[in-house]
Amino acid sequence: MSSQPIAHIDLAALQHNFMRVKQLAPNSKVMSVIKANAYGHGMVEAAHALQESDAFAVARLSEGVRLRQAGITHPIVLLEGVHCVADVHTAADNQLSLVFNNHRQISLLDGITLSTPLTFCWVMIETGMHRLGFSEADIEQVVHSLSSNANISGELGLMSHFANSDLIDDIRNQQQLAVLNQCAQRLDLATSMANSAAILSYPDSYGDWVRPGIMLYGSSPFESQTALELDLKPVMKLKSVMTAIKTVEPGDQVGYGGDWVADKTTQIGIVSIGYGDGYSRHLSNQGQVLIHNTVVNVLGRVSMDMIAIDLTNCSNVEIGDEVILWGVDTLSIDHIAKRAGTISYELLCQLTERVPRVYKHG
Ligand SMILES: *Cc1c(COP(=O)(O)O)cnc(C)c1O
Repeated sequence: MSSQPIAHIDLAALQHNFMRVKQLAPNSKVMSVIKANAYGHGMVEAAHALQESDAFAVARLSEGVRLRQAGITHPIVLLEGVHCVADVHTAADNQLSLVFNNHRQISLLDGITLSTPLTFCWVMIETGMHRLGFSEADIEQVVHSLSSNANISGELGLMSHFANSDLIDDIRNQQQLAVLNQCAQRLDLATSMANSAAILSYPDSYGDWVRPGIMLYGSSPFESQTALELDLKPVMKLKSVMTAIKTVEPGDQVGYGGDWVADKTTQIGIVSIGYGDGYSRHLSNQGQVLIHNTVVNVLGRVSMDMIAIDLTNCSNVEIGDEVILWGVDTLSIDHIAKRAGTISYELLCQLTERVPRVYKHG
């Protein structure tokens, strides 16, 4: 057995979660969001498993190019759009679709002729996030100018992004949606607004295209509901191995800085996982792991390559035993993220390349 951390990726679970999107929003097309290496799961493998998507969304040009190089033929939307003329050409050469977020991105098209016109492009409208997008007042002019641009063919869509979709029934979500829908109706454009939290809680927001991200990977976007309750299956199970066992005596300090001190004779285990793998250092004295189906605590600071765990409640443990860091119903990524003071998105994205991804196909 391998004695290093491995992220087991269950592509059948990914497909199950995709089907949840289809069940919830049967009348919308699905733009599966696989940016940031599919939230750490492996972008190309995720794209293959999510064949039934109507399109994919990534953040950046380099991500879209990588998908094309891997042979993915679906429409691919670059959510950030592009920021220089050379990148517009690369996008067109690779049949990548753009989101236009500001006037400068539109002016990149001035005076150039692309190898093939851009298709399936989107205009981002500012509705409340105050990050990207055109103001409501500018939308009509922007849409007209893009519609008549020779470098763009086909229909444009109107997109926006919720700032508070994890807060169910928050009035701000209704306000944002109202702005989008009014503009889309006036200009007769397709809409896209709903991310995972909205797909799971706000059917009125579905529009023509939904954009699921985190729910595909089996994590709950809500504080108050678990993935299990939402019928989402964890896609990544992060496992490692116990590489040492020792007994510490009262007063012994464990790990850097002595942040954990034994108050009684205690059996501890050393597990091969650390912040060098992306296991957050914020889990120092906060993390929990699963060993022999028992949830036990992380003791002291997370090191680069290892952690210490409390074996007090475990019997018959041995060096080489498997340890689960997250990704089962009894130890979800959402639980671990909460203990690290962050969200699952961050833990998943920051898992480093040192951790091999091993795929189980559907
Ligand atoms: C990342 C992203 C999504 C997906 O959000 P989730 O909360 O992961 O579902 C959707 N839309 C845009 C614009 C995004 O940047």
